[in-house]
Amino acid sequence: MRTKDLTKSIQVGRVFINSTRWPVQVKERTFTTGKTEPTCGIHQLSFFKRDYCSVEGNHIIRNYNKITNKQDWKNKFGKYGGRREMSKMANQEWMSKIQDTELFDLKEQPARSFIGGKWVAASSGKVFDVEDPGHNRVIASVTDLAVEETREAIEIAHRAFQSYRHSSVRERAALLRRWYDLMLENADDLATMMTLENGKSLSDSKGEVIYAANFLDWFAGEALRINGDSHMASAPNNRILTVKQPVGVVGIITPWNFPAAMITRKVGAALAAGCTMVIRPAAETPFSAIALAKLAERAGVPAGVLNMITSDSAAEHGLELTTNPLVRKVSFTGSTNVGKLLANQSSSTLKKLSLELGGNAPFIVFEDADLQKAADALIACKFRGSGQTCVCANRIFVHSNVYTPFVQLVYDRVSQFRLGYGLDEGITHGPLVSRKAVHKVQEHVNDALNKGATALTGGSVASELGPCYFHPTVLVGAKQNMLIAQEETFGPVCALFEFSTEEEVLKLANSTPVGLAGYLFSKDISRIFRVAEALEVGMVGCNTGVVSDVLSPFGGVKESGYGREGSHHGISEYLDIKSLTISID
Ligand code: NAP
Repeated sequence: MRTKDLTKSIQVGRVFINSTRWPVQVKERTFTTGKTEPTCGIHQLSFFKRDYCSVEGNHIIRNYNKITNKQDWKNKFGKYGGRREMSKMANQEWMSKIQDTELFDLKEQPARSFIGGKWVAASSGKVFDVEDPGHNRVIASVTDLAVEETREAIEIAHRAFQSYRHSSVRERAALLRRWYDLMLENADDLATMMTLENGKSLSDSKGEVIYAANFLDWFAGEALRINGDSHMASAPNNRILTVKQPVGVVGIITPWNFPAAMITRKVGAALAAGCTMVIRPAAETPFSAIALAKLAERAGVPAGVLNMITSDSAAEHGLELTTNPLVRKVSFTGSTNVGKLLANQSSSTLKKLSLELGGNAPFIVFEDADLQKAADALIACKFRGSGQTCVCANRIFVHSNVYTPFVQLVYDRVSQFRLGYGLDEGITHGPLVSRKAVHKVQEHVNDALNKGATALTGGSVASELGPCYFHPTVLVGAKQNMLIAQEETFGPVCALFEFSTEEEVLKLANSTPVGLAGYLFSKDISRIFRVAEALEVGMVGCNTGVVSDVLSPFGGVKESGYGREGSHHGISEYLDIKSLTISID
């Protein structure tokens, strides 16, 4: 058994390798049924896992002893929704697109975690693979820490807090500015890696890198503006002062859809406030996070202040971050279900919480709207990141008088999209992050079609490109009883609903348990105020599809969570207010 080869092998039932160099050509594969099929092209391969494979001569044999049927397979790998069904290639091809591989800690494989100012591997030696959803292949492996190592990182952050809390606000500001400059200097590499691990188009990734860096710049300024106030007291000889102090160690958990910005939006504020932190990025996109830690190190963040842990098992590490008494605050961006779980866990030690959770944004086009402007805004808002942003329009309500011309404008724009591999020239939209994501989108589309909607374009997986690509879809005739009206689709599906009155559309827009973003298009200023104030969301775009800006408070209401990020409110999430009552003679 050539175990050494297995780390770079493509393993299926039985494959023929015509070269000892990689990538390999696959001539045939054998399934558990014993059926053999000719195949070629690595994208067609099914799952590999190195421990279950062996090699005989030129054949790689998958040992099915541990995985006997489809259900076992799902049980074991379902969490990743099929991202683990990917084949492994040599790194040379994508590495050639990156100028500074050291930025991703890839000089020595696997990439490591950053704890106490050192780059560390798991003491168990465990690693996990990170995959490119665009080409269905492994990019590289990353350290898979044990929960005890996260606990150690928390203790280190707690020790570092004792000195960092006393750092001058000018030092913190200078640090953040250096980090910001380094992000811009390395923007191309950061964007390339983001596209590799997330799948989004390179132009989307470049946009995110700038957006992410801007939080560091913004909070560099905010560090200098931490202030308190003074008051007269009820007793005539007393005076009251307030001071703001850093809360302490922060546990930060971020998702894959904005692999850089969701980190800097939190970390920028935390560092400016004087907090130390342990960050756990999503297992799908750890390289963007590792690169941010590298740049923070280069910028001179003191050892132990910023700790980045990589792990494959979110739940265990999340439990530690939410129950360890040394962690005083948890900031989480992700789904509502996980947010509720973390809130529950955090209650044992009553941590301060920021929860930036899922949305189901209404996008309302009134009959007096500038339709071209509204259509352009919808394209930007609905399809950014192939529809995988929390503020993406999910339910598009169009007044019946303008429904048909508006649909035409949207259709014309969507027909011009170029779906494909995110790093390829001219591609406007990339794959979804995983097969699990594709499955959910297909489920929403099928449900809508079964209940009477019509797909003007799209509606299916673009399997000719790969399993994670979904055709941008325009659905007309959407109704309230459809899944797409109830839940965030998180994919490139534009579902257009028809309405007749302001009262009716407000009721529909608010008929969801979440409330993150909402959009409305009208030229009537009174209506803009009326509707914006009545929408049960944390952010409203009025005649614009973009609500994300470092200067604007970002956050939701209802089950979209609480807390605000960015803007001058963002830093207060990381500060405690202390009052000093002073008696004078
Ligand atoms: P998710 O499943 O909640 O994952 C988000 C993060 O939480 C990931 O790092 C994930 O790790 C981790 N996680 C999962 N289960 C956990 C647990 N039991 N304990 C601790 N951590 C856990 O969300 P997603 O589906 O990947 O991300 C998309 C969601 O995020 C959408 O609902 C979107 O609307 C929301 N979002 C909200 C905002 C906002 O600002 N409001 C911004 C972006 C996204 P692994 O990936 O390693 O499992």
